Amino acid sequence: MDGRHDTDHKDADANTAPVTVRSTVVVPLVLADGRTVESTIYSFDGLRDGKEHFAVRLGNASRPDPLVRLHSECVTGDVFGSARCDCGPQLQEALRRVHEEGGYVLYLRQEGRGIGLFAKLDAYRLQDEGHDTYAANALLGHGEDERDYGVAADMLRAIGAERIRLLSNNPDKHCQLSNEGIEIIAQVPTGVFAGKHNRRYLEAKVRRTGHRISLPAATEAGPKKSGA
Ligand SMILES: [Zn+2]
Repeated sequence: MDGRHDTDHKDADANTAPVTVRSTVVVPLVLADGRTVESTIYSFDGLRDGKEHFAVRLGNASRPDPLVRLHSECVTGDVFGSARCDCGPQLQEALRRVHEEGGYVLYLRQEGRGIGLFAKLDAYRLQDEGHDTYAANALLGHGEDERDYGVAADMLRAIGAERIRLLSNNPDKHCQLSNEGIEIIAQVPTGVFAGKHNRRYLEAKVRRTGHRISLPAATEAGPKKSGA
């Protein structure tokens, strides 16, 4: 529970005060395919960890079963296009699919699986020495995955989206949201964005945390090109 910055926020009891929508604002977004689409960005009051998580509403989100993607911040992948992970293409795919089907992308400020940007960069250095993405976090004294999706459940309740289709391959997201009272009527798999630089990262996701993704076969000598 570090990372509380809500000095000028009213610091209500996080266990009892409900999360509420603070404001909504329309923001046009340019998708990866060049289309400009309308989105509405939601900010919130009362988030349990005091961080500035936000939601992006796209397409016909009023449908009874909106498509929801929980995306954890990855500034290197999301903004700079780092090929060490698949976050950038995952975010772009989520924005496109959620726009087409109607729903929400929740952008969660838990960089580096919750350990922060600088620690993530330290972990990259350890990965270059041969450790996988989870072992590297553990060597730095962090959990393998410190992400908490409870805050996402609070955001969905505040928006009024308590019955959703979840766009994810990650069983932990499904489990945590269900435990927090969100009804998931379907889990919709995401695409696989395998490339030369992120293959070990994706393999670790499958091996260590049961992500439901099937990677194209690759030889030890070098991964095959995958256009996913
Ligand atoms: Zn990433």
